[in-house]
Amino acid sequence: MSVREHAVFVKRYTIPEKIDDASRVFCFNDGLLLINKDDPDNSLPSFLEVSRLNGNLSEWHYLGEQDGAPSCCVGVDEGVEVPESFEFRDLRSLYSFLGIELWRLAGYARQVVDWGINFRYCGRCGRETSFMNVERAKVCDHCGLVSYPRISPAMIVAVISDGKILLARGRRFRGPYYSVLAGFVEPAESLEECVTREVREEVGIEIENIRYFHSQSWPFPDSLMIAFFADYRSGELTIDPVEIIDAGWFSPDNLPKIPPVGSIARKMIDEFKSIYSRRHRISD
Ligand SMILES: [Zn+2]
Repeated sequence: MSVREHAVFVKRYTIPEKIDDASRVFCFNDGLLLINKDDPDNSLPSFLEVSRLNGNLSEWHYLGEQDGAPSCCVGVDEGVEVPESFEFRDLRSLYSFLGIELWRLAGYARQVVDWGINFRYCGRCGRETSFMNVERAKVCDHCGLVSYPRISPAMIVAVISDGKILLARGRRFRGPYYSVLAGFVEPAESLEECVTREVREEVGIEIENIRYFHSQSWPFPDSLMIAFFADYRSGELTIDPVEIIDAGWFSPDNLPKIPPVGSIARKMIDEFKSIYSRRHRISD
């Protein structure tokens, strides 16, 4: 494994008195990340380079050090001019370009910048908030309300039946692919209840044997994806046309177009392929 996959990140909450000019900066414009497209080994702009941009920079945060490299994040207004080798790109498309550890840190930075912008003012009394130094939080000096970066838990589930996986094409998908089912957890709901409800609502079937797989932060804008596998129990596939365009059962050797590498959905489908292709071979 490369060093990048084992990066050590030391998180910090206060901006140092002096930020090194060479510190790397995750600079976001409306959710898009500024990268140096000509230099994958030095893919992020430095503090000095970002400070020289002619746009309005707001919400500077110091994130900490990754393998000793100081890292900050900031938001910049639309219309800012950037040097020729730089461009703003959707973070989803940068998984391979940045490498997994830098991509994950960029996701953290994106959520911190969004939170900073969205919580400038107190949600209870409307007055300006200020940063707390001991944790990533903002406090209203007037009424004392404390606001943390928002995290929205969402379940994602791969339902298996007779060696086939249930995949659906959602109306809100960003591409013409099929994926496992997903949905946000509602207040007072357990993860298992959410999995059962979402599957019932979206495709009309009942499931059993729900088992945890992995989780992944998904900063678009602030989801925590909690992934499960489950077994089909009963019912006919009946799609909810508001959410789903099409759904079906797919064997490992007959999969439709699936999500790109980087998402936990892809990891689940790859896991299914690896387990059930092997079983096919053994039973042959
Ligand atoms: Zn307040």
